[in-house]
Amino acid sequence: MSDSCCSDPKDSSKASKEVVTESCCNLHPPRTCGPEKCPKCGALGKTVKRITLGALLKPDRRANIPIQDEFCFCGTPTCDVAYFRPNEALFFKDDLSAAVGLKEPDNPSSLVCYCFGWTPEKIHAEIKSTGKSTVIDKIKAQVKSGNCYCEVTNPQGSCCLGNVSQVIKRVPLSAP
Ligand SMILES: [Zn+2]
Repeated sequence: MSDSCCSDPKDSSKASKEVVTESCCNLHPPRTCGPEKCPKCGALGKTVKRITLGALLKPDRRANIPIQDEFCFCGTPTCDVAYFRPNEALFFKDDLSAAVGLKEPDNPSSLVCYCFGWTPEKIHAEIKSTGKSTVIDKIKAQVKSGNCYCEVTNPQGSCCLGNVSQVIKRVPLSAP
């Protein structure tokens, strides 16, 4: 499973029609924020809508969300900035009510798929016991049923399949 369906739209022309239909990427396509970069780590962010901040920030932080439609999410694991706008870090990972899986790659119980509750621990347990992973298929089946709410569950505000693929790749398939 590639993460092609979760690339920027300009790169996803190669993805088959079936993949695009099954993934939530056409519902919640990841878009690169730019040209502004994270004021702390210098990485490009992902564009998120205001509703994502409203849904995921701690309640007492919501009053501080500036009035604008879109913000940038920083996905760099070592950077504690969560949301930023040009030249300004707005919110840090501690301002979110849930742990940000992307920011805690070594935490096996942090969520990578927020809609359906997948953690590295659960994903790796399946691989260790069966030698394969069905998580991508399971997520796609749920997406097909209309149960995907990345915009308000996932701090990056968009499809998680690319992140899930990365977690799968950390453990060799076909356990001995
Ligand atoms: Zn950053």
